[in-house]
Amino acid sequence: MTVYNTPSDAANTAVRSFLTSVGQHYLGKAFNTGSGSGKATWLRICDDFGGMCAYCGTLAPMQIEHLVMFNRTEYGLHHPGNVVPVCRPCNKRARDVNNQYVPWEAHLAHVCGGEGSEEYMSRYSKILGHVAKYNYPALTNHERHAIRVIAEALYENIKTEAEKALSMYRKLDAAFVQSPKTPEVAKS
Ligand SMILES: [Zn+2]
Repeated sequence: MTVYNTPSDAANTAVRSFLTSVGQHYLGKAFNTGSGSGKATWLRICDDFGGMCAYCGTLAPMQIEHLVMFNRTEYGLHHPGNVVPVCRPCNKRARDVNNQYVPWEAHLAHVCGGEGSEEYMSRYSKILGHVAKYNYPALTNHERHAIRVIAEALYENIKTEAEKALSMYRKLDAAFVQSPKTPEVAKS
C-alpha cells in the first residue's frame, strides 16, 4: 500500500482507471481479477501458462502483467488478452540504455537469451496465442491516438486539480491563521 501519494500518483491512477474502462468497453463486462468471473478468468489464464511465468518459465507465485504496459507510455488496456502471469522479477520489466522500459517482446528476449533462442520462439508464440484467444482488441492508429489524447488530458487535469487543492489550502491557511506556522527567525 502506497503511503506517500503525490499529485502525479493520483493522475496516474486516473489514467489506469480510464484504461480499465476502455478495456471493459471492448470486453463488454468488468474484469476484476480479484473476484467473481474476472478472478475465474485470471485463474484460467494462469492455468493456460501451466502456472509458470509467461516470460521466463519459473514456477513461482504469479503476478499480473500487462503485455502492452498499463500506463502513460504504452496505454495498454486492462483486458484478459493483455494480461499474463509472470514471476516477481519479470514483473519489473527490463530497461533500455535510456532507462526506459522495453516492450514485452524485448523483455522476453532478454530473459530467454535472445530472439533466436528456442525458448524465445516457443514463449513468444504462446503469448501471441493468448492475445488471440482472449481477443485483445486490435486498435487502429486512430483509436490509439484518441486513447492517448484523452489519457493525457485526464492526467494533466487531475494533476492540476491536486495542485490547485494545495494552493487553495495555503491561501485559506494564510487568511485564517493569525500567527505564521513557520518558526520565527531568531532575532539578533
Ligand atoms: Zn519470470
